[in-house]
Amino acid sequence: MRIGVPRALFYYMYYPFWKTFFEALGHEVILSSPTNKKILKDGLEFAVDDACLPVKVFHGHIVDLIEKVDVLFIPRIISIEPGEFICPKFLGLPDMVKSSIPDLPPIIDSNLSVYKNRKGLIEHAKSIGTDLGHSSKLILKAYKIASTKFNSYKKFQISHEKLPLDSGQKSFFDSNSSYFSRHKNKCLGENTLNVLLLGHPYNIYDNYISMNLITKLQKNGIKVITPEIIPVKNISAGAKNLKKRLFWTLGKNIIGSTYYYMDCGKALDGIIHLASFGCGPDSIVGELLERKLSRNRLVPFLRINIDEHSGEEGFNTRLEAFIDVIEGRRRN
Ligand code: SF4
Repeated sequence: MRIGVPRALFYYMYYPFWKTFFEALGHEVILSSPTNKKILKDGLEFAVDDACLPVKVFHGHIVDLIEKVDVLFIPRIISIEPGEFICPKFLGLPDMVKSSIPDLPPIIDSNLSVYKNRKGLIEHAKSIGTDLGHSSKLILKAYKIASTKFNSYKKFQISHEKLPLDSGQKSFFDSNSSYFSRHKNKCLGENTLNVLLLGHPYNIYDNYISMNLITKLQKNGIKVITPEIIPVKNISAGAKNLKKRLFWTLGKNIIGSTYYYMDCGKALDGIIHLASFGCGPDSIVGELLERKLSRNRLVPFLRINIDEHSGEEGFNTRLEAFIDVIEGRRRN
């Protein structure tokens, strides 16, 4: 059976796991094309007007897959860390898509919640495998293969500080080298400029949405640090410095990374926050970041809000000005 996975939202977090899992069950995984003008246009046409840009783009990826697959994979994600939640838009995603796009193939929309404990992940896998008609024995075997592969992928990503950039038509898991950024992420050193890039993975790693932000920084000789290459224990240590606990996992990762770098004396030349216009969690996280940074006043901070109307020229101008500032500070 051909299972369609949209190259958007959760793809940037869990694709290696799900691809391995579905293939171990004997299915073919079909990925939508990298985000492009047509995908954005279709997303704008079908998604509700007040959705954020990543959700609109997600709808475009569904349209891209409709004719190519037997079933669509749109999990209903509630929680990806015990005691925390993810943005409610992820929870409503299967319903949003069903009510907005006609003539869809069947949808696998099992719940994923590890709010109580991590057993939620295996329950999620069991529910998907059962819906696809597999035995418990095969589902468990596929789950173990996928977990092992995913854990080693995450370890490799952190230990080698590899940024997960999408690289065109190939899926990133066909070979590790096609998935990770082709531009060298410079090593932390005296002469390297280090920039902490904050944002949701589906914004910063989608080249179309982010207007190639990572590549642009790396071409300027900047080492880009994102929450995905910071060890989880460091993010947790940073997040503990907040007076009140943040219950959104993605927001916690952003805040925890910032606090960790600011409070542990790590060499940083600048911080960029790429946020989605109209995103509730981003507006609160952005406010917390600005408060923290205005207290320290040590690191230049650039906040860029993106939506479907964002133009690349204005984006580039702001980025160039920011790079001039951090280079000037380093020279002086
Ligand atoms: S966290 Fe923000 S950008 Fe992400 S899906 Fe929710 S509203 Fe959209």
